[in-house]
Amino acid sequence: MSRVWNFSAGPAAMPQAVLERAQRELLDWQGCGASVMELSHRGKLFMGLAQQAEADLRELLAIPDNYAVLFLQGGATQHFAQIPMNLAGEGESADYVVTGHWGEKAVSEARPYVTVNVAASSKDENYLRLPPRASWQLNPRAAYVHYTTNETIHGVQFHDVPEVGDVPLVADMSSDILSGPVDVSKFGLIYAGAQKNIGPSGLVVLIVRRDLLERTTRPMARIFRYADHAANDSMLNTPNTWGWYLAGLTFQWLKEQGGVAAMRERNLAKATLLYDAIDGSGGFYRCPVEHAARSRMNVPFTLHDSALDADFLKASEAAGLLALKGHKAVGGMRASIYNAVPLEAAQALVDFMGDFAKRHG
Ligand code: PMP
Repeated sequence: MSRVWNFSAGPAAMPQAVLERAQRELLDWQGCGASVMELSHRGKLFMGLAQQAEADLRELLAIPDNYAVLFLQGGATQHFAQIPMNLAGEGESADYVVTGHWGEKAVSEARPYVTVNVAASSKDENYLRLPPRASWQLNPRAAYVHYTTNETIHGVQFHDVPEVGDVPLVADMSSDILSGPVDVSKFGLIYAGAQKNIGPSGLVVLIVRRDLLERTTRPMARIFRYADHAANDSMLNTPNTWGWYLAGLTFQWLKEQGGVAAMRERNLAKATLLYDAIDGSGGFYRCPVEHAARSRMNVPFTLHDSALDADFLKASEAAGLLALKGHKAVGGMRASIYNAVPLEAAQALVDFMGDFAKRHG
């Protein structure tokens, strides 16, 4: 067996210890003689798992009791639409702060359900920096303010929670949830697709302040209503039991690693290593993102001559470094260094980049 260093943006690397444990337990989970995938979600065993996963996530993020934690499906994209359905009444508006591709998507999926006010956008600057808070045109009567804590494609990340007054703050944390401590009480709703820092795709974790659950009065099917999911412990219909199980194992792994505070330090070390190598390459590599806004999860960079891109990708793959091709929207390369990517992987990449630059400089 040979595992590579995996820099995929998502679905992304999972902790090897989690994969190994899932492998060991695959056929016979907890001595019940069946796989966790083969059990009823309403049975005692699975219910125990579900409760433990929620308890571990609550502990990791210090989630206050007045927040519900939901394990849902549909990807973050479905929730781009479901959030306005649940949080905004007919005729209301919501503020969106757009700092990259995913913020744009959130806006376009929300439009059928709420009047969108783009309160700030860094599109005119190619999403290379965050719009200063003082420039945001917030509406104090907005149903909520939505932003993307980390833009996975553009590699821009908020390192502080913006102050937005009494309007509930809604955050797409798909690509940086659990990468460090966060004060949940500053948010009305946090949501994240699982396939970066939580587990496999097909699962969405949503953390919502309970008073917001009863907001909307518009008619909709129960399956779209967060309040119904919360009242049914995320088992309104059959949940993604396999994803929930792997999320639970990942939460346990995170606790063993020292929790999200330890993750922040590790992620900072990995990101610093990479950005220093890029900035110190004498222009061979470049990261165009403003320093203060640089993501610690997704590091986009270009080569000084794009004619070398194909060689770089071929040679990096041969060196056991997977998935470094940048998103087509920005081109170049991207190294995603989520929680499960160890410092060793970042070091291996930096070493490779140094060698490659020497050979082609
Ligand atoms: N938001 C962010 C920040 C993302 O990175 C992604 C996926 N890469 C999405 C939303 C969309 O997630 P999904 O494909 O699970 O709907």
